[in-house]
Amino acid sequence: MNERSLIHTDIDFDRDGRQVSELHLPHSPHTDAWGVMPIPIAVIKNGSGPTVLMEGGNHGDEYEGPIVLGRIIRDLDPAEIRGRLIIIPAINIPAVLAGQRTSPVDGLNFNRCFPGDPHGSMTQQIVHYVHSVLFPLADAFVDLHSGGSSLDILPSAVVEPSDNPDLMAKTLDAVQAFGATYTVVLNNLGDPRTSTASAVENGLITVGTELGRGGAVSLDSIELAERGVRNVLKHLGLMEGEPNGPRDDERNLVCVPGSDGYVYAPAAGVYEPLHEKGALVEKGELAGMVHFLDDPGRPPVEAHYRSSGRLYARRQPGRVARGNCVGVVVVAYRGS
Ligand SMILES: [Zn+2]
Repeated sequence: MNERSLIHTDIDFDRDGRQVSELHLPHSPHTDAWGVMPIPIAVIKNGSGPTVLMEGGNHGDEYEGPIVLGRIIRDLDPAEIRGRLIIIPAINIPAVLAGQRTSPVDGLNFNRCFPGDPHGSMTQQIVHYVHSVLFPLADAFVDLHSGGSSLDILPSAVVEPSDNPDLMAKTLDAVQAFGATYTVVLNNLGDPRTSTASAVENGLITVGTELGRGGAVSLDSIELAERGVRNVLKHLGLMEGEPNGPRDDERNLVCVPGSDGYVYAPAAGVYEPLHEKGALVEKGELAGMVHFLDDPGRPPVEAHYRSSGRLYARRQPGRVARGNCVGVVVVAYRGS
């Protein structure tokens, strides 16, 4: 079977200067027999040096990444770097245009589709292009996520762990260079289908983030993302200067302690949390309770923390279904 991507582009990945263009994915719905889905892409290159692939809009309701990467596409002078930036600021474009986590075209979560499929649905085809065409061009990968519609998260830089000690050390250094107050080692419970897990598997130094909250655009997270992206480019040697950020004693290196870090809604209803994010909590402590607004005589159902630590993320909407993630606890990271 021919595994070549059907996506085409007029971008020349080897040309110096700034190119702003599109990836064209053939798309043939009822209303348009021979059209394409245009996906924005930019390449900023100056001479030889490392290649960094920067992605936003993996989930379409996480806005800081696309905003900050768009600003870099417009404002960064190629003379400011040595090497190459490949920027895909709204990679899951149908989801970005819809303001949704998942694609309205095929219902798929871009970040659970790696390595993709060149002849699959739209999301699978875009993922395949990132995996099979863009990853091999890159030395490092920056994937900018935010809390999205369902979560309120402490703004943080994220480490996708690697079994390769050399790559893990380089990744930890690059993520800490981003300069967030919280650096979180997080592997989505070992899911290999995320973009960062796939990038690490392919040997890329990988920097993730979890920025704003609740599907909104937050001022502090925009500032963190702008500084953080430049910090990573300085750390990797594409830009002049030293990364800057919080003092060492203001930084926290933490991890999600496996499945015990997660609190899930024990029933459908409305979840009342008992702690603000950032709070220190105890294993077994009451995290919150699910209320039944149409049945006030019925006692609420309690949810408890399964690990001591710091409350890193909370559910944003009040309404929950059984099994929704309502809290995530992190603990100090002490190496693998
Ligand atoms: Zn995301």
